[in-house]
Amino acid sequence: MSSQVVSQTSYEIPKTQRAVTFAETHGPHTIQTDWPVTQPSELKPGEVLVRVVYSGVCHTDLHAWLGDWPLENKLPLVGGHEGSGYVAFIGPPLEGAEPCTLKVGDAVGIKWLADSCLHCEECGKGFESSCGQAKNSGFSVDGSFQQWAVSWGAHLTPIPAGFPLANAAPILCAGVTVYKALKEAAILKGEVVVIPGAGGGLGHLAVQYAKAMGYRVIAIDSGAEKEKLLASYGVTDFIDYQKG
Ligand SMILES: [Zn+2]
Ligand SMILES: [Zn+2]
Repeated sequence: MSSQVVSQTSYEIPKTQRAVTFAETHGPHTIQTDWPVTQPSELKPGEVLVRVVYSGVCHTDLHAWLGDWPLENKLPLVGGHEGSGYVAFIGPPLEGAEPCTLKVGDAVGIKWLADSCLHCEECGKGFESSCGQAKNSGFSVDGSFQQWAVSWGAHLTPIPAGFPLANAAPILCAGVTVYKALKEAAILKGEVVVIPGAGGGLGHLAVQYAKAMGYRVIAIDSGAEKEKLLASYGVTDFIDYQKG
C-alpha cells in the first residue's frame, strides 16, 4: 500500500485512512480516502491494530468480488489477505488465553485465516481454517487493502526482523498454500515432486520450497521465459506442455 517502511515503538493513529472497497458484489472498486480507522479504545480482546505496508493480491480476492463462492462475504468489503506491516496497537488480552507475545513495532503478516477459536477439535488438530468460528481476512472481516487493519494477535504471523516486507506479503497466501501442500505430501528427501504451473504465482514458490526440502523437481509450464526462471532455481527437468 505504501513504500514507507518504518518500525516504531508508538504510532500516531489517524481517524481515517485510504482503503480499497466495494459495496456490492461485482460492483465498482472505490479508493476511499476517509475510511474509518479502528481506534485503540475500540479494539476488542485479542485484537491487534496493524499498520499495513504491503499487500499482495490473490485470485481469491477476485472470487470475493465476483461472489461466485457458496460462502457469503461481508459488504462493504476491504479485500486482501497477503498483508505485511507492523503492530501499531495491541488490544486488551483475551480472557483465559496466553498473553500476546507481540510488541508494538514488530513486523507481522496478515493471512487468509484471520482468527479461530483455538479450542475446538479442528483447531486442536492444526486445521484451524476448518474451525466453525474461523474468520477470513478480506472476506468475512476487512483485510489488507487498507492502511490500518484490525487482526488477531493469536494468528498474526511474526516476520523475522530485516526480512523485506514486500517479499513477505505474497508468501502469506501463495507461499503458505504450496508449503502446506508439500508438508502434507510427507515425501522423503530425494524423492520426486511434479509441479504443474511451476512458473506461476504459486508454482514458482513451490519449486523453491521443494528444492530447499531436498526434493527432485519436475517442473511443468510453457515458454522460454518460464523455463529460464525455473532454471534460475536450479530446475533441470522442465516439461513444456505445449511441446509435449
Ligand atoms: Zn489467497
Ligand atoms: Zn476452532
